[in-house]
Amino acid sequence: MRAPRRVSVFGATGSIGQNTLDLIARDPEAYEVVALTGAGNVAQLAADAIRLGADVAVTADETRLDELRGALAGSGVEAAAGEAALIEAADRPADWIMSAIVGAAGLAPGLRALRHGTTLALANKESLVTAGPILLAEAVAHGARILPVDSEHSAVFQALVGEEIAAVERIIITASGGGLRDWPIEALASATPEDAGAHPNWDMGQRITIDSASMFNKAMELIETKEFFGVGPDRIEAVVHPQSIVHALVGFTDGALMAHLGAPDMRHAIGYALHYPDRRDLPVARIDLAQIATLEFRAPCDTRYPALRIARAVMETGGISGAIFNAAKEVALDGFLAGRLGFMDMSTIVEESLDAMSSQTSLSIAPKTLEDVMQTDHMARQAAWSQIERRQNAQ
Ligand code: NAD
Ligand code: MG
Repeated sequence: MRAPRRVSVFGATGSIGQNTLDLIARDPEAYEVVALTGAGNVAQLAADAIRLGADVAVTADETRLDELRGALAGSGVEAAAGEAALIEAADRPADWIMSAIVGAAGLAPGLRALRHGTTLALANKESLVTAGPILLAEAVAHGARILPVDSEHSAVFQALVGEEIAAVERIIITASGGGLRDWPIEALASATPEDAGAHPNWDMGQRITIDSASMFNKAMELIETKEFFGVGPDRIEAVVHPQSIVHALVGFTDGALMAHLGAPDMRHAIGYALHYPDRRDLPVARIDLAQIATLEFRAPCDTRYPALRIARAVMETGGISGAIFNAAKEVALDGFLAGRLGFMDMSTIVEESLDAMSSQTSLSIAPKTLEDVMQTDHMARQAAWSQIERRQNAQ
């Protein structure tokens, strides 16, 4: 019998994290769970850590340490809290780590895990958008592998098995169009977080669901594609595909298009990364093409989705613009959730933040270290909040 694989899940209490634990729990003999991490949902974190026999459970929220300790009392699972504890968890030897914290907070633990040569299953797209070159260089330096978990990027990765990247002419990622896809454009300005937080096809965390409605999610994924696969921005496209059955297509120099089809269930991409390079039976629905009958595709409208236009500019500029884009987008989303911004104002804030930062510094200069990225992230958040305040004062 093979020794169990040591696995850790960062962001275990979230949507990706729970799907990951679902796969792990189906084959308990095959895995030894090292660390599980969460933030606010301490009861869930503790219950999962006990159920799966984790060595340690970490909450990012230091004020919840006592609560976590209480929930783990007598179980033998260690409790820890705070950013340093997340890094310490990433230092614990593991064969496979899921990076599924939401937001820029996911970068540091994932980067740290790569230092140990650990295979990193990367759901946290913010890592590639804010610090792609740093992340990839760290993986190369330590012989670590990064496996994409975002469904589109997993799809591209799978379409590229056995192919040369030099033979790739274009990469097309699909977008469902999100919960407001069929709203008239004029109505979008008054959309609420509840309106934008319902997704037609995917069941995901609240932030990424709203990012799907605004296409900020697809915008992030365009940048993610450029960073991960090293393909020029002019060869990366997004297409609206309401059924979310085709996740991505790779076009080759001979004109062939290889598409990846699958049910909209993240356990597919997670399972592929978990078992790579093998394929194993996964508990996902099988597709009945005759029942689906029609697969639709259409070009995304720039007026409806300004985030895509901004992402193109970010891909062209490179450097620190990805970190600014992500930080400003996170702040704009906070502003929208707090009722301080309208739905369509989010893209305006992101664009204004990029403009404000470009008047202070050259955006095309690449960050060299995690500290550089975090400093840019901090400055961009300040810039975005001041744009939000300016906007509110002007009203
Ligand atoms: P989620 O909101 O459901 O879960 C986020 C997880 O991160 C939770 O465990 C939460 O406790 C933890 N967390 C939140 N803030 C934190 C902080 N400051 N420090 C440490 N931990 C923190 O999010 P999700 O939908 O599972 O998405 C996770 C990541 O995967 C995101 O980067 C998202 O873009 C990406 N992703 C998600 C999906 C999906 O289907 N949900 C698909 C593709 C990519
Ligand atoms: Mg995706």
